[in-house]
Amino acid sequence: MGVSGIKEWKEGIINNAEIDKYLVDGRDYIDNQSIFASLNRNSQPDAHFIRDILQKSLSIVTLDSDETAALLQVKDPELWEEINRTALEVKKKVYDNRIVFFAPLYCANHCVNNCAYCGFREANTLEKRRILTMDEVRQETISVLREGHKRLILVFGEHPSTDVDYMVDCIKTVYSVNEIAPNSGQPTNIRRVNINAAPMEMAKLKKLKEAGIGTYQVFQETYHRETFEKVHPKNTLKGNYRWRLYAVHRALEAGLDDVAIGALFGLYDWKFEVMGLLQHTHDLERQFGIGPHTISFPRMTPALGSWLSDHSEFEVSDENFKKVVAVLRLSVPTAGLIVTAREKAAIKREVLQLGCTQTDASTRIGIGAYSDQKKELNNDAEQFTIGDPRDLDDVIQEVGKLGYISSFCTAGYRCGRTGETIMGMLSHCVEGKFCKLNAVLTYREYLNDYASPATKAIGEELIKKEISEIEGNEYFRNKPHLLTRFRQDYSDIVKGKRDLYI
Ligand code: SAM
Ligand code: SF4
Repeated sequence: MGVSGIKEWKEGIINNAEIDKYLVDGRDYIDNQSIFASLNRNSQPDAHFIRDILQKSLSIVTLDSDETAALLQVKDPELWEEINRTALEVKKKVYDNRIVFFAPLYCANHCVNNCAYCGFREANTLEKRRILTMDEVRQETISVLREGHKRLILVFGEHPSTDVDYMVDCIKTVYSVNEIAPNSGQPTNIRRVNINAAPMEMAKLKKLKEAGIGTYQVFQETYHRETFEKVHPKNTLKGNYRWRLYAVHRALEAGLDDVAIGALFGLYDWKFEVMGLLQHTHDLERQFGIGPHTISFPRMTPALGSWLSDHSEFEVSDENFKKVVAVLRLSVPTAGLIVTAREKAAIKREVLQLGCTQTDASTRIGIGAYSDQKKELNNDAEQFTIGDPRDLDDVIQEVGKLGYISSFCTAGYRCGRTGETIMGMLSHCVEGKFCKLNAVLTYREYLNDYASPATKAIGEELIKKEISEIEGNEYFRNKPHLLTRFRQDYSDIVKGKRDLYI
């Protein structure tokens, strides 16, 4: 497409009517003054107040602004110990002891935007541009299937040549691939495709829904409007703060039940961003009755050709990063929390124990890098650098040692447990129960189909413990039909059946 074609395409993207309808008296849900006021009012939080907040969080309700601000402002290390313990307790109540695994698949890096922190930005001449063909998407899918993945998130720049129709082709291609698992020879395929892509209008979002996506994920990057405008040039699509602020509102209205939000930590003050994520959650709850399915909090990492990505004045230390995770866990107890391979193994391990529920592994973020690993070594088609390149098996082994069960469960959206249904189940701590059953079933598949001997040995012990917990759990004992179904599915998987879920 020529320059004038791209210009015309860009002019047709933003539909102001699909922003204005969500505003209240012309205002959006981010009010800098009230966020700063909340942080100031709670700058010396009282320990009793903090303990009351922890109790409230244990009853699985979203916290309000002052409560979240108070948690963010705690200074006493002993109180942080209590906060961290409670964060894990909340996670256990809602999500049990499982970690869900996924892999990102970068499909294309053409982009019309110029985000100062990103290697894909249009002005970055060092970046080699590539759009995967459907045959290459197939090859990439085969490569991640060989690792053992069942869930993918497809990632795109924003460009007319990779607009929604290209995304739909990628989704359909991924779902169409079948592979054979290396250890058992059993069939395997990707069971859930999520999308991380630019904000779109409702008509396009409906196309994604029809293609069968799981979650639609858009990060606000920064909720601080002035900073947003500094790092996203005004003449670009991404320069429109409110178009992005309401991206997942539109998705919910278009019928995509599971939406995911996030902020790129390192652009502005971390406490402000946590408050922004909370305001976002509140507004979704107010307008749609449900919060985000997941929240992400990537820390900015050095990106090819991006000065800012390596010189942040708001760099978030490991200590503060852990606080981000613990506070989000408590403030939005129903949301899944995602820590990605941007983080190094050691810190990832720590935040998994503070309440994160999902992570990626065996991650390659170069375009085409799963099937052609040499490309990644060139480092010229990547968006940023990753901190944890370990294989899925290594990470599964590690989390197994920590007592966590690895899950590839995709049952939720395939059984209609999405949107309001899943949020209700999460807040009543019921979804975690289903997840536990499905986690065990998919872990069983992984251990038989992919695990190395060392991972299998750890996994067998863990799965035994999980099953005896399930058998002894009052919730399941009162639902004998669930237990019977679980036992049957488990034994069928052992015998070689696949993709059974409850
Ligand atoms: N182009 C789409 C967009 O901007 O929403 C989606 C894809 S973008 C490739 C995915 C996310 O990567 C961005 O939302 C941003 O938060 C994150 N990202 C960009 N540059 C980064 C960096 N240097 N370090 C860490 N994450 C980065
Ligand atoms: Fe493009 Fe997204 Fe990167 Fe911005 S963050 S340059 S929109 S790919």
